[in-house]
Amino acid sequence: MPCTPDTTSHPCFTEKAAQSCGRVHLPVAPKCNVLCGYCNRKYDCVNESRPGVTSGVLTPAQAADYLDRVLEREPAIRVAGIAGPGDPMANAAATLETLRLIRQRHPDMLFCLSSNGLGMPPHLDALAANGVTHATLTINAVDPDISARLYTWVRDGKVVWRGRPAAELMLERQLTALTGLVRRGIVVKVNTILVPGINDGHVEQVAERVAALGATLMNIIPLHPTHDTPLAQVAEPSPEAVGEARRLAGAHIRQMTHCRRCRADAVGLLHHDRSRELAPLLRECAQKDDGAGARPFVAVATREGMLVNQHLGEATRLQIWGLGPARGGKGGTTTGGGAASGLDDAKGTGSGDVPGSTAGMPVPVLLEERATPRPGCGPERWHALADMLKDCRAVLTAACGESPRAILREHGITVTECAGIVEDVVGAVLAGLDVNAFRARKGGVSKGCCRGGGDGC
Ligand code: SF4
Ligand code: SF4
Repeated sequence: MPCTPDTTSHPCFTEKAAQSCGRVHLPVAPKCNVLCGYCNRKYDCVNESRPGVTSGVLTPAQAADYLDRVLEREPAIRVAGIAGPGDPMANAAATLETLRLIRQRHPDMLFCLSSNGLGMPPHLDALAANGVTHATLTINAVDPDISARLYTWVRDGKVVWRGRPAAELMLERQLTALTGLVRRGIVVKVNTILVPGINDGHVEQVAERVAALGATLMNIIPLHPTHDTPLAQVAEPSPEAVGEARRLAGAHIRQMTHCRRCRADAVGLLHHDRSRELAPLLRECAQKDDGAGARPFVAVATREGMLVNQHLGEATRLQIWGLGPARGGKGGTTTGGGAASGLDDAKGTGSGDVPGSTAGMPVPVLLEERATPRPGCGPERWHALADMLKDCRAVLTAACGESPRAILREHGITVTECAGIVEDVVGAVLAGLDVNAFRARKGGVSKGCCRGGGDGC
């Protein structure tokens, strides 16, 4: 019989521990294998506090490095977790490699995963072998007719399921995952999103079933209606409705009442989250070459070659930029760019103007241009583009639709909508700096020189 992990220092499983023990979420899992009706995995907004949101995605090696650096700044961290921004088991290779690296360096740390359960059953032994101590499964219903209303689609390998067959598959996998985790000595919490009009009369049945299968704790989370989702118009349940659901479910299983609905890159104590403060560190680690398939380049959609000013859907070619030696061995200056730092000057050499750069540092250089896949092939066009940009960490564009953004994100490429001198923005991205300043510049004018999107002059 496996030993039960120590739960007294896990801030989510033991409320008292939330005062003194922290957690860090390592965002190594960008893809998801289902689409929940309430989920919108928007990136890079430090003001958003909800699952699915992160300031960056890390490779396993970057995540191990990031964890080391977080522990230097926040020694109260006791739990390392993977909670997205997609689903850990839809990114099983990255998840298992992250676990392995962290287990080597921090054998005493608690390790926690949060998953929809669909992709978990084949990896149960590997999760246990790599030291997972706690897991959260999101199970919103134990009746497929109810959960069919909560999933837009479910993808199992190459097959996409919808409606009741999708819900039946989800439930079967979730219950197999729950039983398998418990059998391997992993402590399980079940999250249930309370959705008025859909599963609010059903949570007690969920509680009864998961308790019978060995779950330790249940976390009933009120729906947070999110823009651009099928359930955006459903009202958030009232505190009274949540309290009643917890009371009924509490007859079967202990209830969690202190959940903070954390981001996929949450870090710190539950009541003193430091993800905003540590976002630059996360971005810095995400930019670092980890020696294992790192993405050293940035792609740019530009009409004339000097400004980021083209919609991604219109771009027939993308510039590919990287870091290289400055002309004459000099590093960049910090003058903020200008027309003189345009394409011709940057070709193969680069003239500087890297925000935050110093003499002797490499500068952004234009490496090549790549033709984009032809329009008219639906999502395949964006998968093909992602394939062509395997060595790029970001695409800089004036605008981009939600579908290409989501597909590129699934492939680990961040789409950044911005405006300004290409070399300036590329320099900021490659230096791991916040590019919000370039978003703010859109349409703006500075010192009589146009710094806008390039459309008007
Ligand atoms: Fe979003 Fe999580 Fe649902 Fe995936 S499983 S769609 S990341 S809420
Ligand atoms: Fe804990 Fe809730 Fe935050 Fe998950 S979302 S880490 S359960 S407080």
